[in-house]
Amino acid sequence: MPKFAAIRWPRRTADGKCIRSRVVPYDERKPSMSFALPDQHSLDREFCRALDARDPLASLRAEFDLPPGVVYLDGMSLGALPRAAAERVRAVVECEWGRGLVRSWNTAEWISAPEDLGSRLAPMIGVDGDEVIVADSTSVCLFKLICAALRLRSERTVILTDESNFPSDAYVAQGVQRLLPGLEIRRVPADAVGQAIDRQVAAVLLTHVDYKTGAQLDMSEITAQAHAAGAVVIWDLSHSTGAFPVELNECGVDLALGCGYKYLNGGPGAPAYLFVARRHHDALDQPISGWMGHVAPFAFDAEFVPAQGMRRMLSGTPPIVALAPLAASLDIWHDVDLQLVREKSVAQSELFLRLVENQCADPELCLASPRNSELRGSHLAYRHPQSYAVMQALIADGVIGDFRDPDVMRFGFTPLYSRFVDVWDAATAVCRVLNVGGWSDPRFQRRAAVT
Ligand SMILES: *Cc1c(COP(=O)(O)O)cnc(C)c1O
Repeated sequence: MPKFAAIRWPRRTADGKCIRSRVVPYDERKPSMSFALPDQHSLDREFCRALDARDPLASLRAEFDLPPGVVYLDGMSLGALPRAAAERVRAVVECEWGRGLVRSWNTAEWISAPEDLGSRLAPMIGVDGDEVIVADSTSVCLFKLICAALRLRSERTVILTDESNFPSDAYVAQGVQRLLPGLEIRRVPADAVGQAIDRQVAAVLLTHVDYKTGAQLDMSEITAQAHAAGAVVIWDLSHSTGAFPVELNECGVDLALGCGYKYLNGGPGAPAYLFVARRHHDALDQPISGWMGHVAPFAFDAEFVPAQGMRRMLSGTPPIVALAPLAASLDIWHDVDLQLVREKSVAQSELFLRLVENQCADPELCLASPRNSELRGSHLAYRHPQSYAVMQALIADGVIGDFRDPDVMRFGFTPLYSRFVDVWDAATAVCRVLNVGGWSDPRFQRRAAVT
C-alpha cells in the first residue's frame, strides 16, 4: 500500500463528532480587552506597536505567507495565503491522488470532505455541524437555495431583496425568474425591507454585510419580520463569516451561504458553503439533483432519491484539490475566538477612521460606511471622485485595498493577520496620497481588467 502523508480531512469519532487538529492557538493568557485606543494626542505609531505587542491574536499572523513590504487590506476580496495551504495541496495531489489514486475516495476520506469541512465551519456561524456543507461557488449555492426556498413556500410568488445587494446575487435571482414565469423579484432600499415583507413574499434574500459600504443589516430583526409574514430568509454571509461571530440559529435563520475565499482564506475561487436549518432538511428540494446528493450514489438507480440532511444539497463530485487550501485555513480558524476577532476589527477600523479624520485634508473624501462600528462589518469604504487612481497610487506604494465602481475605495481589516502598525501605515499613506495629489500621475488612471 502507498504510504499516505499525515494530511487528512478531519475524522469523525464513532458518535459522529469531528476530531480536529489544533494548530497554533492564539495566546489564551492575554486579556481580551487589550485593544482600547487612547485619546488622539497619544495615538502614534509607537502606540500601534504596543497594541500589536499585547494583541492576543498576533501569533496567528505567522500562519500566513504575506509578501514583505505590503500592507494588505483587501482580505475581504481575496484572503491571504495560509502557510500550510501549499503543503496541503501538494499532499493531496502527490500522495492522495498520485499514490492513492481512486482508493483515496475511501482511504483519504475524500467522499466526506464536504460535510467534514462544513462541520468545522459550523461553529463560526453559530449552527450545528450537520447543518452546513461545502460545495460549488457562492453563486451556484445561491441558485440552489433560492429554488429550495421557493419550494418551501410554493404558494407564494415573490423574492424580496434590497437594491444594493451584490450584483451576482441579483443576477442569480433573475436567472431563477427566467425559469419560473410569474415569479416577481421585488427590490427595495435596504432600510425598507422590513415593511416590504408581505404575504406574497416567499423568500427574503439579503447580504448581511454590504459588499460596498460595509453596512451590516439586523439579521435578528429582519429574520423575525420575515417569519411573522410567513416568509423564509436567505442570508449571504460572504462578508460576515470570519469577520465576526455570526449566530444563525440564535436568529432563527432558515437558509444561508457564503464565500470561501474572503475572510475564510480558502484561495481564489475556493468552494462556498451552504447552511439549512435542520427543521427544513426533510422538505429540502434543490434543482441540481446530481448523484452526490442521492441517498445511494453508488447504487446507480434510475430515479433520484435525495440523501438525508445537507448531503442532498450536493450535486456532483466534490473538488478535492480546491478543498485542500480551505482545509488548511480552517485548521487556523479552529479555536480562534471570533469575539476577539471582532474586537480587534473594531479597534483597527476605529484607528483607521480617526487617523483619516485627523490627517487627511482633502474635502472630497467622504466616508461611505456607517460611522458607528456596531452597524458595520469589517471593512471601511470611502468615496472620492478619483478613487480609482488613488487606489492605484496606494497599491504602487505597497498598500493594497480595492476599488468599487463608481467611486469607492475599500479597506478591509482581517484580524488574523492585520497588525495595528499596518493600519497606521495604510492610513498615513492614504492621507499622503490625497494631501499631495499623488494619484494624478496618468499611469494611475489606466483601468485593468479586474478592478
Ligand atoms: C464575494 C461574493 C460572492 C461571490 O460569488 P462567487 O460565486 O464566489 O463569485 C457572492 N455574494 C456576495 C455577497 C459576495 O460578497
